[in-house]
Amino acid sequence: MDFEKKEHPEFPTVNKAHVEQVIVPELSQWCLTNGVALASSENVYTAVAAPTTVFPTPVPRAAYQSAKQLQKPFNKLYAQIANSKWLLKETKSLAKADPEFTGRLFKLYEDRTAKSKQTLKYGIFRSDYLIDHKTASVKQVEFNTVSVSFGGLSSKVGELHSYLNVMGKYDVAGKSFYEPGELHVSESIVFLVKALAAALTLYKVDTEDTAAKREQDDKVVLFVVEPKELNLYDQKLLEYNLLKLYGINSLRATLDEVKTEFTYGRDNRLVHKKTGKEAGVVYYRTGYDVRDYAKEDHWDARGFLEESFAVKAPDLSVQLAGTKKIQQLLTEDKVISKFVDDAKTKKELMDSFVKIYPLDNSEQGKLGKKLALEKPENYVLKPQREGGGHNVYKKDIPAFLKGIKEDEWDAYILMELIDAKPTTKNFIVRDGKLSTEPIISELGIYGSIIFDGDNIHMNDYSGSLLRSKLVSSNEGGVVAGFGCIDSMYLMD
Ligand code: ADP
Ligand code: MG
Repeated sequence: MDFEKKEHPEFPTVNKAHVEQVIVPELSQWCLTNGVALASSENVYTAVAAPTTVFPTPVPRAAYQSAKQLQKPFNKLYAQIANSKWLLKETKSLAKADPEFTGRLFKLYEDRTAKSKQTLKYGIFRSDYLIDHKTASVKQVEFNTVSVSFGGLSSKVGELHSYLNVMGKYDVAGKSFYEPGELHVSESIVFLVKALAAALTLYKVDTEDTAAKREQDDKVVLFVVEPKELNLYDQKLLEYNLLKLYGINSLRATLDEVKTEFTYGRDNRLVHKKTGKEAGVVYYRTGYDVRDYAKEDHWDARGFLEESFAVKAPDLSVQLAGTKKIQQLLTEDKVISKFVDDAKTKKELMDSFVKIYPLDNSEQGKLGKKLALEKPENYVLKPQREGGGHNVYKKDIPAFLKGIKEDEWDAYILMELIDAKPTTKNFIVRDGKLSTEPIISELGIYGSIIFDGDNIHMNDYSGSLLRSKLVSSNEGGVVAGFGCIDSMYLMD
């Protein structure tokens, strides 16, 4: 077929009244029908459509492709870090600077994770990028190694935008606006589920005596979740697809429920008391924030899971490889060179880094302190925390640092701000209402890796995510109310 290359504006030219009257109702119905939803905080039986954009946001195809290419090397790099003595050494000193959280995680690693007989490790990762305005290249914001979310909703929002396009909603005359192939639908649901199924299969092969036994489908995936999870349907999309595509059942438990509902069987196998089913894979969608361990029992429950024979996604070595401190250390040539031999790969990975400084007494640390106090407008200060809302931005940095003791500064890193270009032509829809403020988009690339020492069983790219946030907000928490799920229009 001969497609005449159409000269496109980047966004449909429909006016705001068309968006409000035609697109928003259609979009909201599609979201609610297809599970692009957040649970209501008041009533577990009701849901609201998750915030999304009206249009897909343009992303240079080359930027997406380069981020995608980086994922397998990043997966491998973080797997090697999780296996390394170097991680333990660095985490031990970080634990002193942040005893409340990193310290507790590290102690649990030593007391429980390190004692597990399970040698398979499993990372479900997401590397997040902003696209630098001047060079149009991707720059890494952070590398997440625990509880990465939105893999479910991301695929669905791609489908939503494709639907609106095909149905002619992006055009007043009812024609489709984008051409086939220009709208990207993230493969994250199927790819993440594929890796969960592979991990469970490896667990079975590893632990069963006969081929016949391997076929038994009494092994399940345990989702360890928060008690009042608003981003519930994102997880449910993975559960349902695990069943639909691979016939694998899953169970859910909060850190409160783990020890009452599960017990250790032979060799610390994790057995569900009520059904006798064995959880071969423990998939954490909680446990990344100090608030997830409000009670001492929660630490104990995590330890019970860590020391079990189940494959953990992730175990504490993989989780601790994802601290902001490790991200900062990797920007140093001599550090990344410990793990990446190939010069071309190393260069490609390092090209995605912006400058990150420690705030310790090293030369770089001294420079970091000076910049934090004298040029804060170019930087973001980050503690060893995940999940949004912990960072300190720009002019707030000096007063924040002066408010804590200087020997606590070690627990923070200072990162150069990435200058991404806002767009003024898209809209965010939240609860049926349009926001017309400019937005900035952050590209996430999912990755899955299953490994046993140096033996890598699976290393995959696992789909993508585009999240957009209001320019006026420093951070784009989707559930917190400042961001939304978007999808990509790949621009050549
Ligand atoms: P968290 O672990 O809390 O998600 P992030 O490092 O991802 O922490 O930061 C949260 C948000 O802050 C990001 O999604 C991004 O919007 C913004 N942000 C973080 N680092 C930078 C940076 N270097 N440049 C610009 N924005 C950033
Ligand atoms: Mg983040």
